[in-house]
Amino acid sequence: MMKKINVAGQEVLLGNIFCIGRNYSEHIKELNNAKPGEPVVFLKPTSALIQPGEQIQLPSFSQDIHHECEIVMYIGKDAANVSQEEALNYVGGYAIGLDLTARDVQTQLKAKGLPWTKAKGFPTSACLSHFIGSQAVENINAETFYLNVNGQKRQQGNTQDMIFSCAYIVSYLSTIYGLQVGDIIYTGTPAGVAAIQSGDELELVWPHKITTKFSVA
Ligand code: MG
Repeated sequence: MMKKINVAGQEVLLGNIFCIGRNYSEHIKELNNAKPGEPVVFLKPTSALIQPGEQIQLPSFSQDIHHECEIVMYIGKDAANVSQEEALNYVGGYAIGLDLTARDVQTQLKAKGLPWTKAKGFPTSACLSHFIGSQAVENINAETFYLNVNGQKRQQGNTQDMIFSCAYIVSYLSTIYGLQVGDIIYTGTPAGVAAIQSGDELELVWPHKITTKFSVA
């Protein structure tokens, strides 16, 4: 069944789930990756999405599921070959989410030069809050967000530390792939990624804008 997401109180159909990897320098260092010359892009199947009220299910094929807390963009109108200057006009809303990652599987796939899909696309791997309208965010290039696990802060980021800004990402994706209304984009995670366990309570906080929780079954 096609999934619906909540954008500023409206139910809309979910399109593609794009994700940007390696977009914060401190996170690149903690995984010993190289700084990219252009955005690292991967996709998740729409079956991966969960929203508040649903639980994270740890897949049986991994022993090391990591949280990656990220700001997420909603594409409000079709976009092709959009300039950086125009790009944010195509963003219809912003949310906070988790790009859950089977780190052990991803490490094996990276070593073999294979796609990351198994590590990134399992059911419940794309956790997503509701979206607030883009007009509710004055400057997306200076927004703090963080993740608490069982009441302790595990990750904190600020969008000013992105290697590729939200405008750059939208312009880039619109040019290389084309973007369609309903598409969402995970914009990359700051440092502090770590494993989650059954019973953990994850609280995603974008101060003064969004707070949402997911528990691990
Ligand atoms: Mg990520």
